Amino acid sequence: PVLLAIESSCDETAAAICKDGQVLSNIVATQKVHEQYGGVVPELASRAHMQHIVPVVDQAIQQAGVSLEELDAIAFTQAPGLIGALLVGAQFARSIALALNKPLISVHHMQAHVVANLIDDPKPCFPFLCLTVSGGHTQLVLAESPTNMKVIGETIDDAAGEAFDKSAKLLGLPYPGGPLIDVYAKKGNPKAFRFPEPQIPDLNFSFSGLKTAILYFIQEHQQENPSFIQDRLPDICASIQDRIVSILLNKLKKAALETGIREICLAGGVSANSGLRNGLEQMGKKYGWKTYYPALPYCTDNAAMIALAAYYKFLEKDFADLSVTPTARAGW
Ligand code: ATP
Ligand code: MG
Ligand code: FE
Repeated sequence: PVLLAIESSCDETAAAICKDGQVLSNIVATQKVHEQYGGVVPELASRAHMQHIVPVVDQAIQQAGVSLEELDAIAFTQAPGLIGALLVGAQFARSIALALNKPLISVHHMQAHVVANLIDDPKPCFPFLCLTVSGGHTQLVLAESPTNMKVIGETIDDAAGEAFDKSAKLLGLPYPGGPLIDVYAKKGNPKAFRFPEPQIPDLNFSFSGLKTAILYFIQEHQQENPSFIQDRLPDICASIQDRIVSILLNKLKKAALETGIREICLAGGVSANSGLRNGLEQMGKKYGWKTYYPALPYCTDNAAMIALAAYYKFLEKDFADLSVTPTARAGW
């Protein structure tokens, strides 16, 4: 089947075409308006989606070289996300489906992040474990199939991406700071400073204590040396990244040992982090895992992953009613 997928859950307006599970086009417009506010402003996100959605979908269709008549279904992100942002993509998808008389497929954004691992070869075998680390979520997922997965652990407060972005903000770096911490960390010593590792039961995570620890750490050092951040930025970034990565990988290791699963994936925006990717590979060698992570364009929000998730739902004839509405929160 040829599928058109639309993603609009947060601050990227994205569209993609896939044919029989192969990505033919993948267009992402990242909204710039939020930078000056240091975070995503929901109302501005909705407006920007309305401005971008027509050109983005047009470009996806043109680049794929398909015609509207060739589409077999229209997919969209139904949940979770910012409700006003989701509504734009959902309404657009419903309108196209109605106008072309094609079936509609609703996709769960967090399941699609996991399915991003099935876009390129080599692909993980089922069942696999996926550590999904994004701007709003930190989840350990046990995937039995592309359409059957469950969350076996998650954060009780901040997400991993938030931990990166809030740390970056404390260091005076612009939003979103996660990728910048990654860049500076490459030039620093990860053992220069030691931040605490929280003791959280089961397979759950917590990052709010780390944020507070970093705040006090910066305040203390700045009392002695007002230019502490400028002087030591690479070492600070490397040490923060090292701790976030160790919190994540220690729980992933626990999940792998408890389930006995050795097919291990990363997903979500933070899976672009070089420290996390390297750390996973090292841990994988030590424990005999096969490790996977999506190509960089499929880590942060994109519509190719929505198209792939929709492809597997299409094979199961799992279509949505034209009256389907998006929801900000969604269980599995
Ligand atoms: P969710 O999927 O939970 O709704 P989201 O879609 O906004 O959230 P993503 O687009 O998957 O999140 O990821 C964005 C997050 O990834 C941001 O917090 C960003 O800082 C972080 N991120 C992206 N690249 C890197 C990197 N190289 N190192 C660390 N963090 C990164
Ligand atoms: Mg985003
Ligand atoms: Fe996302």
